Amino acid sequence: MLVVALTGGIGSGKTTACRLFETLGTPIIDADLIARSLVEPGEPALDEITQQFGSSVLTTKGTLDRKRVRQLIFSDREKRHLLESILHPRIRREMVRRIAELTTPYCIVAIPLLVESGQIEIADRVLVIDTTESEQLQRVIERDEQTEEAVAAIISSQASRAARLALADDIIDNSGDIGHLQAQVESYHQKYLSIAKNRS
Ligand code: ADP
Repeated sequence: MLVVALTGGIGSGKTTACRLFETLGTPIIDADLIARSLVEPGEPALDEITQQFGSSVLTTKGTLDRKRVRQLIFSDREKRHLLESILHPRIRREMVRRIAELTTPYCIVAIPLLVESGQIEIADRVLVIDTTESEQLQRVIERDEQTEEAVAAIISSQASRAARLALADDIIDNSGDIGHLQAQVESYHQKYLSIAKNRS
């Protein structure tokens, strides 16, 4: 199984690219979705987070108050590391488990914070969805109806474009229209099928 990690900054087009790979029959394993499922009520990770951060991170319904957690870790590096030490090994284990169940020639693992989370070892190749910061800004402002300042703050809290590109084996340029994105997805799909075939 060839494992391709797909990453990119907020608004780079990761979700859109994943949907296009999916329509070609490629399974997508999404780190964000796994992270969410790991903190459902009753999950050991949620108990550990509550022990470490206190019950103020829980909503009245007993679910994780994600906004509160984001506030707690935003400017506190130690707390951020603590949260990551609870979540990242579990996310990784779950990804490995799901990859082992697949039978396709290759799969994509979508890892938004690949550079930051150090989860790169799981993948054989890294595919970066790349666009300019001004495109990211514009698309996220439109998608999430957020202010320019709020989106700019998220972009600057993430790994830089250069740091991501430095890790890339493959790059999709998503500064054009959807057709341009789709053509590149199709071309990488063929490339990954061919790499997977030659490996087996
Ligand atoms: P991410 O998952 O990386 O945050 P998305 O795939 O959600 O990014 O894309 C951000 C927004 O930009 C979405 O509203 C999406 O529909 C739009 N978008 C993505 N790629 C393009 C493109 N090539 N042209 C125009 N809009 C795009």
